[in-house]
Amino acid sequence: AADSPDELAIIEIAPHNSPSLTGADRTDRSWTYAQLRDEAEHCAQWLTQHFEPGDRITVWAPNIPEWVVLQYGAAMAGLILVTANPALRAEELRFVLSQSGSTGLFHADSFRGTDMTAMAREAAMGLPSSPRLVNFASWSREVRGWRGTSRELPVVRPEDPAQIQYTSGTTGTPKGALLHHRGLVTNARYIAVRGGLTEQGRFASAMPLFHTAGCGMSVLGAAHMRSALLLIQAFDPELVLRAMADHRGDAFLGVPTMLIAMLNHPDFAGFDLSACAVAMSGGSSVPPELVRRVEAAFGCRFSTVYGQTELSPIVTQVSPTDSETDKAGTAGKPLWNVEVKIADPVTGEPVPIGEQGEIRARGYQQMIEYYDNPQATDDTVDADRWLHTGDLGTMDSRGYLRVTGRLKDMIIRGGENIYPSEIEQLLFTHPAVEDVAVVGVPDDTWGERVAAILRLRDDMARPTPDELRALCRAHLAPYKTPAQWYVAESFPLTGSGKVQKFRIAELLGEQVYEPLKP
Ligand code: ATP
Repeated sequence: AADSPDELAIIEIAPHNSPSLTGADRTDRSWTYAQLRDEAEHCAQWLTQHFEPGDRITVWAPNIPEWVVLQYGAAMAGLILVTANPALRAEELRFVLSQSGSTGLFHADSFRGTDMTAMAREAAMGLPSSPRLVNFASWSREVRGWRGTSRELPVVRPEDPAQIQYTSGTTGTPKGALLHHRGLVTNARYIAVRGGLTEQGRFASAMPLFHTAGCGMSVLGAAHMRSALLLIQAFDPELVLRAMADHRGDAFLGVPTMLIAMLNHPDFAGFDLSACAVAMSGGSSVPPELVRRVEAAFGCRFSTVYGQTELSPIVTQVSPTDSETDKAGTAGKPLWNVEVKIADPVTGEPVPIGEQGEIRARGYQQMIEYYDNPQATDDTVDADRWLHTGDLGTMDSRGYLRVTGRLKDMIIRGGENIYPSEIEQLLFTHPAVEDVAVVGVPDDTWGERVAAILRLRDDMARPTPDELRALCRAHLAPYKTPAQWYVAESFPLTGSGKVQKFRIAELLGEQVYEPLKP
């Protein structure tokens, strides 16, 4: 955005009653592109005094503008930014610092009742890499106010490593995807173009910065459009709705659970969303019913995206000009310069058009490797460089992808494979269902049986299991109908707001959920 120095780059959106996370005066802070560039240059200069190109530094904070300054500063200084979820506990943070060999840890002061300073010290204690701790509260004094002699910054090439992002939120042990600049920057540009984002607009993103959807799609996507990023400190439906109304947000990005929470806000109709032209969502299955509800309620067009961290992150995307049927039911077509195939998971051969197989992708945007984990890299990227997503899908003759499930998130009942997302999408069409998770539970006869856990709307009559069974029988093969029905107040979520299926299965085993009454 060198040609728009005076345009706003970032508008901080934080709850007005939240304590300062950085010690700075934080209400309504904003940065122009010129300010952002100056601060990033200062930051890069400071970083080169303390770190060497190629060093890893971890950032552990909620969405604050300093995070973005550090992102750009680290890139200019040739450092690799390791992005950590602010919800991590000391032991998990220690794993990230240690696995990445980080020599720096930038953290906020406190967040949601956690003393991050104390926890950062605890996490870093005794690590061989002795990470230098930098509190964003002393950031102004230490980094932003840097006034030393400028050094020449290193040459950073597009293929150089930019970030390590730990992925596993929904399936288990974390692996650090090492991503390069070209993958992140180009992908963000393509998404902005395919999604029809407005130039010099106001882009509201509820995605956390530690995820590629935050520091990639949101930060770099907004910069590509010379738009201001409405940087939501941490997701809260009211905070986002108010920010979009006050700043005339013309685009929104968030996972489906966030959109559901926004639609269900009791005063939804009181927020003026008339400026919103496009809502982008993905990261988990996007029920067609949700697409229709959002388009009607926001008065905007919907753009579903599909991808994963390892792919920087987006592979396919719906365009606002797609037909209604394609918009509400597919994850769109591949973005430019990426190959996508639907492969037989065993042979790797493409399956016939329309048949289900594993989604595999190859292109400029794929990760360099899982950092310091050659075994996991070999298991994921094959000899022909195809990256195996572990997701299942079909593709029609026009190139539209449907994501039908996950290889790992599959229930096997009496030898029949059942993909929960199909059942979830159906149950989501019931008006009383706010959200739903379908999981497998151990069964002596069938190996596994299907259980559905529902979050129900307060303002509607509770459905009975019979009613829901009838809905399933009308649309699905009988073996897919859930045998057990439960109600949950809330679902365990990852830091990026996605439902943690493996955790729900565990909680079910611990009999945490209340059975749905007949
Ligand atoms: P993990 O991949 O280890 O479970 P995670 O969910 O945090 O962790 P991400 O890279 O954020 O990792 O998520 C990518 C996954 O999200 C994809 O592999 C896919 O299963 C799911 N996903 C993304 N977009 C869509 C979509 N449009 N429809 C259905 N599923 C999607």
